[in-house]
Formats: sequence, structure tokens, C-alpha cells
Amino acid sequence: MGAATSPSAIAAGTITSINPATGQPIGEVPDMGADEVRAAVAAARTAQKDWARLPLETRCRRIARFAEVLMSRAEEVIDLLVREGGKTRMEALGMEVVVVADLVRYFAKHAPEMLAPEPVPLHLMKHRASYLHFVPRGVVGVIAPWNFPFSIPIGETMMSFIAGNGVVLKPSEVTPLIALKAKELFVAADLPPDLFQVVTGRGGTGAALIDAGINYCVFTGSVATGKKVAAACGERLIPCTLELGGKAPAVVCGDADIDRAAQAITWGGFANSGQVCASVERVYAVESIHDSLVEKITKQARELRQGDAGAQDVDVGAMAWDRQVDNVETLVDAAIASGATVAAGGKRRAGAGMFFEPTVLVNCTQDMDVMRKEIFGPVIPIMKVQNEEEAVRLANDSHLGLLAYVFTRDRERGKRLAERIEAGTVMINDVLNTYACPETPWGGVKHSGIGRTHSLLGLRDLCDTRHVNHDRVALGREVWWYPYKEGTFRALLRGARLLFGKRPWSR
Ligand code: NDP
Repeated sequence: MGAATSPSAIAAGTITSINPATGQPIGEVPDMGADEVRAAVAAARTAQKDWARLPLETRCRRIARFAEVLMSRAEEVIDLLVREGGKTRMEALGMEVVVVADLVRYFAKHAPEMLAPEPVPLHLMKHRASYLHFVPRGVVGVIAPWNFPFSIPIGETMMSFIAGNGVVLKPSEVTPLIALKAKELFVAADLPPDLFQVVTGRGGTGAALIDAGINYCVFTGSVATGKKVAAACGERLIPCTLELGGKAPAVVCGDADIDRAAQAITWGGFANSGQVCASVERVYAVESIHDSLVEKITKQARELRQGDAGAQDVDVGAMAWDRQVDNVETLVDAAIASGATVAAGGKRRAGAGMFFEPTVLVNCTQDMDVMRKEIFGPVIPIMKVQNEEEAVRLANDSHLGLLAYVFTRDRERGKRLAERIEAGTVMINDVLNTYACPETPWGGVKHSGIGRTHSLLGLRDLCDTRHVNHDRVALGREVWWYPYKEGTFRALLRGARLLFGKRPWSR
């Protein structure tokens, strides 16, 4: 994103954080270079060695303290999320603060069983036994976007600590202050200060982090940057998790509860000003319910209150970044030029701040960019389809596959459709909120990314999985060791035929 922030917001060697709802500066951070990043990784590595030596239960107990401090200072964190991220207070609480507090509590309670050594039953070599054990990776580099500047990086960071790692976090240049606030809470929770490093800067700082000797990288951001990160990690053979873009389809079946579907889609399309990787980004509505669905979504969209959440009660806050408003405007204008109709909103809001009106587009077609490219703004494009088959085909006609939604009253049918949709997660009759379920995996297929965060899978990815194989009975030697003998060969061949060949009883 680097050069994209308003040039006026950038002074040499520093980055100014802007309140997107007012356009006013709210703070300044250094734009750190490679030397500072290397020093941060080295400090985290030193602290990590002591941290990893603590029993897992002790680490869990100490990290749980972060949730306590976070909740005791929740209003201060929410206030900063509103000022730096442009979000509403409800979103700052529900989508950022509570998500992290719950995740910390969940993993602090369950990590000991999730990371306990796991036996691997051997089906053939019964005289031996295997087990897996999970060892901290070392220093994890967390590179984060601006749309959820607290819940995304701090969730990953806390899971990394529980797994026994140190963390160096590179927040987005758009939202650095909230990362520094998280570090402040970490220190207030009496956790080892050096274990958690925050390196502020632009894209170059993120690239420098990958080059600074980290042992694992958790990247969340766009597909374009994700490819660069994957290449840089590949060159250094650093394992990584990539959480990239989404283009979540909502398939609305003929038998759906239309009131619930309309409310869910409206919230799923406009929450956080549509800047959610899981946002409802395209709707395929079966023709029998299309008009009624459009009417309900349009009515709700027109009733939403938009504005500076720091100054008044609003439903839709500001967008976090001026260039994102330009992207949204380009996509909406192009869709209108190609025949889409504006049912609500349709344009950027005049005056100060970065706002795009909650927008509903109808008569959309699959070839429009608004149906194919990630919008990442408060826009719900709707397309009429003949039936569910067409809806599923179009839902899968995308290079992205993070989240998808199905609305139907028939749960079994919903599951059958869900299993055919190419996405990391498909929700039936609901939207967005599995990110708030730390026990479920989060991640995409196709260009939406590689690997999973959250859940047992995400926690174990933050560890090296190592395998120990040991004897169960003391044998002098194995039959396949030296010296090789014809008699042993014959016996083994007979045994192998018996085991793997055509079974005599099935002749
Ligand atoms: P970007 O890809 O622009 O940036 C993500 C992070 O990478 C930022 O911290 C950025 O720094 C940094 N960065 C930029 N260039 C490099 C580089 N060469 N090497 C290493 N790091 C670099 O994404 P956005 O911040 O614009 O976030 C929006 C995107 O994130 C959307 O596509 C959205 O779908 C996706 N996303 C995915 C999620 C998921 O769970 N799958 C969740 C949330 C968002 P800087 O900002 O300073 O340039």
C-alpha cells in the first residue's frame, strides 16, 4: 500500500496517523528501517528463549492476564479504534475487543490439551510407537492490514505467545497507534516487554521483517502483497500463513426466510463500512424471492445512519483509507455504466472524512468488476438467478474463496449447497461471525490464501510439529537389517503378499 496514503500525511521518516472520519491527524510514529527491524527480531528472540522454557500452563495463565487488562481498559481501546479506524463503537467492541478477549480466554484454557503430545497409532509396526509434540517456532512475524487493526494481529500475536513464540508485529501504516496501544496493554499485564515488538512503517518495513530472520510469518492482507510475501518467504524457506482477499457470495434460495436473509446481508455488507474480508460482496437471489429481497435490503440501507462514530450514534462509520474510497467509487461507477441500477446510496459523501454511502446495486451481471473484484467498501451488488444451481455455479466462478453464505429454511439442503461452494468457510443463514469463534478455522481456498488461523489447526501451525518414534518391546535386531539373506527375503515377500495382495478369502 506504501505510496498510497495521502502524501500530506507523510513526513520524512515518520508516518502520521489520521482520523478518517475527520481527516485530522491523531499521532505520529517512526517509519522503521531494516536495522531497527533486525534489532526488534533479535530482542524478541532473546526474550523468547526464557518464555519458551516456561511450562505451557504458566504461559497460558500469564497471557490470560492480557484479557483482564484489555477488558479493564476496553473504553480506551475502543476510543482509539473509533478515532484511528473510523469504526463504530459497537464494531470496535464486538469485532475487535471482545474477539481478542474471548480468543485469549479460549486458548489459555484449551491450549494445554491442544498442544499435548499426541500418540500416532502405528498400524503395522506394532512393536514400536510414535507421538507428535509441538515446539515453539521461535520468532513469529505478524504483518497486518488496517481493517481490523486489533483483532487480526493481536489474536495471532496472543496465540503465538501461548504456543511459546516471540512476536514482531508490523501493523498497517494506516493504523499503527492501535498496535502500540496493544503493546502498552501487554506491558501493563506484566508480560515480558521484549517478547512483543511492534515495528511501525510502510510496506518496506514488512519486507524487512521477512528478511530479519523470523521463523514464521503470519500475513493478512491483499492478494497482490500476499504473493510478494509468499515469494520472499519462499526464497528464505520461511513457512507462512497467508490470509488474503475475499469475495463472499450470498446464495439466497427460494425457500429462504427473506426477513432474516435481508437483515443478515445488509449487516454483512455494511458492517465495518464493508471493509471486511468476509463481507457479503455479491448476492445471487433466486428469481422467486429476488424482488422482495431487494426491497427489504434497500429499505434497510436507506435507513442506516452514517457518520463520525466519535461524535454521534451511527450505524456505518468512516472508511479507514482514502484510496479505498477511490477504489469503491471506481467499481460502482463502472457497474452503473454497464447497466447496474442504484437502489440505495451510490456515491462518496461530500465534506470532510472518508465516507461512501451504503450502496445497493441491482441488475448486476457476473461480468461486471463489482461482481468479480474485491470491493472492500459498503456496497451490496445483487444479481437475479434462475435457481440455486446457477447461484452455486456463479458463486464458484471466482479466483477467491474465503467465506460464502447460503440462505434457506431447509438445513440439509443448505449443507448440501454449502459443501459444493469453494470457500474456506460457508455459513448457513448467518454472516461474518465465525471469526469470533476461536475454535473454528479461518482461511481461504484459491487466491484467498494458504493455511488457517484460529482453531487447533492455527495454533499448531504456530509450532513445529515434531515426531518421536520409540520401541515398545526390546528386540535385539530388526529382520530387515544386515546381513540380507535369501530366506528372510522370501519370508518377507510371503508376508507382504498376504498383507497387501489379493486376500485369499476374497478369491
Ligand atoms: P496490503 O496487502 O496492502 O497490506 C497488508 C500489510 O502488508 C500491511 O501492513 C502492509 O504495510 C504490508 N506490506 C505491504 N507491502 C509489503 C511487502 N512487500 N512485504 C511485506 N509486507 C508488506 O493489505 P491492506 O492493508 O490494504 O488490507 C486489505 C486486504 O486485506 C484486503 O484484500 C482484505 O481482503 C485482506 N484481508 C484478509 C483477511 C483474511 O482473514 N483473509 C482479513 C482482513 C483483510 P502498509 O500498510 O504499511 O503498506
